Amino acid sequence: MIRKLILGMTISAALLMQGCGSTLNAEQTAGHQTFPKQYSPASIGDLAALPDIEVIDGVTYVEGILVVNKEIPLPRDYNPGLQQEVIDAYSRMFADGAGRGLDFVLVSDFRSYDYQAGLYNNYVARDGREEADKFSAKPGHSEHQTGLAIDVGSSDSATTLSVKFGETPEYQWMKDAAHEYGFIIRYLEGKEDITGYQYEPWHLRYVGDEAEAIYESGLTLEEYLGIE
Ligand SMILES: [Zn+2]
Repeated sequence: MIRKLILGMTISAALLMQGCGSTLNAEQTAGHQTFPKQYSPASIGDLAALPDIEVIDGVTYVEGILVVNKEIPLPRDYNPGLQQEVIDAYSRMFADGAGRGLDFVLVSDFRSYDYQAGLYNNYVARDGREEADKFSAKPGHSEHQTGLAIDVGSSDSATTLSVKFGETPEYQWMKDAAHEYGFIIRYLEGKEDITGYQYEPWHLRYVGDEAEAIYESGLTLEEYLGIE
């Protein structure tokens, strides 16, 4: 990412210098006029494609969206609790689902750094580190620490935190409705290499208004933001 950024800046600087270096020579002036036409669209495209990344107090925002994944952590002291906008959003979704005869259950919401550390260490002790890394986040890398992620289930508890949840009527409605409440299905099937996680139909991430565009794109958050 940083290398890409520097490359983009170098191309941009070279273009600027070319632009400033116009001379009175007619042939060179003609060259100066055609140069941006030939090369600048690609260069500007490269620059536009670079995501806007901000790190504020150790929290990473890409295009204004807080991002946590296997590479991007949260600080240990980031401890916001479950955000009110998320409570409002899932409450509306669950109520609308109930109106359709669906029975949603909130399985998990905010998890602190220290709580995640305990979970992760237990999984490593039980399954080994390699296996644990497929389904559990290291402390500081759980999206649940953002206060913007929830795990949902149905009244059929046999499907709780299982890919079988993907076959429930709750999921079948939710997968095409969650974005209307500001949620995305964060760990999609077939995208394991990008997200670093196995398919988790139950894990929702609140992103607000951007959810619709992400849903329509069919992309993971990483792909959508250009940080995969
Ligand atoms: Zn989760």
